[in-house]
Amino acid sequence: MPDHNGKKAPRAAGVLIVSEADCQRLVSARRAFDAVESVFAAMAGGNAYNFPVIREAIGHADALYGFKSGFDRAGLALGVKSGGYWPGNADRGLTNHQSTVFLFNPDTGQLKAVVGGNYLTAVRTAASSSVSIAHLARKDARVLGMIGAGHQAQFQLRAAAEQRDFERVLAWNPHPEMLPKLAAVAGEIGLPFESVTAQDVCAGADVIITITSAFEPLLMADWIRPGTHLACMGTDTKGKQEVDSALAARSSVFTDEVAQSISIGEMQHAVAAGTLAEGDITPIGAVINATHPGRTSDDQITLFDGTGVGLQDLAVAEVAARAAATEAEPNIVAL
Ligand code: NAD
Repeated sequence: MPDHNGKKAPRAAGVLIVSEADCQRLVSARRAFDAVESVFAAMAGGNAYNFPVIREAIGHADALYGFKSGFDRAGLALGVKSGGYWPGNADRGLTNHQSTVFLFNPDTGQLKAVVGGNYLTAVRTAASSSVSIAHLARKDARVLGMIGAGHQAQFQLRAAAEQRDFERVLAWNPHPEMLPKLAAVAGEIGLPFESVTAQDVCAGADVIITITSAFEPLLMADWIRPGTHLACMGTDTKGKQEVDSALAARSSVFTDEVAQSISIGEMQHAVAAGTLAEGDITPIGAVINATHPGRTSDDQITLFDGTGVGLQDLAVAEVAARAAATEAEPNIVAL
């Protein structure tokens, strides 16, 4: 209807609400893989940017709170993931990590969707290591090694199992009492599971995923066999570390985003120790785009430093929002 100036009144903004339950139903590991692979490719092609991350201790409830945001010009995902870590939540029956994704219309800046971010964080992190396995692990990899057995590890194991014909899982965790839950996941997908020492994981596995909150190396450089692919996924903060920094010098190193890898990712330590230069690290998107060859021999060690970028969150939130709008009864509220 024309307004008093004779101009067409703008359409009222409707905001789509996508619940945690809908995200779990609508965003499969396969869909997350495709979304994360595409956004890594867009980042390497210069079509997608992560904005600077904010993460602060808020001085209340021991919580860390912050924002990860960015814009993918190729996938037209614009938005922000807001959330953090509340260590007391477990005692209240809640997940310690809490997050929500806000998606905006890149043409108008209007808020278009609010999407639960807890499940999406796990599925997009698992998709990241899974993309690295798809592009960098040897095709004949048969043994999957797991270092870590927390919440994320379960998603990691499921997603990795899709990428190669794995025949068994070797696992170690600093807190062994957490391993049975991971063993149950392996059982569900039909993979024999063995709990061994960290060194024996390295001696027997072709692909190793590390997903712990460690602040010192759990794996030593000389334990890693030629031909191994490592996906180091736990280090997402300054000071955390999962593998011996000397390993970087023996490996071809890939990452989601180089700037994060050297500041808050696993490679912060190798760069500080001088065993690796920033220019030695390749964005995995370059391998996806075939502008970098990736693995070039069966005895090469490939190491993927998965630091976790905001664009991954936006990519899977877009999948959830599109699926919610087209495949479900959409929950739209007026602003
Ligand atoms: P969780 O609390 O469920 O599990 C923690 C894991 O780390 C367990 O395996 C535990 O045994 C181990 N652990 C705990 N304290 C440790 C210590 N001091 N030294 C060594 N190991 C220790 O956590 P989660 O949700 O599974 O997350 C695991 C890690 O992954 C965290 O560091 C988290 O910040 C990180 N993470 C990374 C990304 C990413 O995109 N890269 C995304 C989400 C989470």
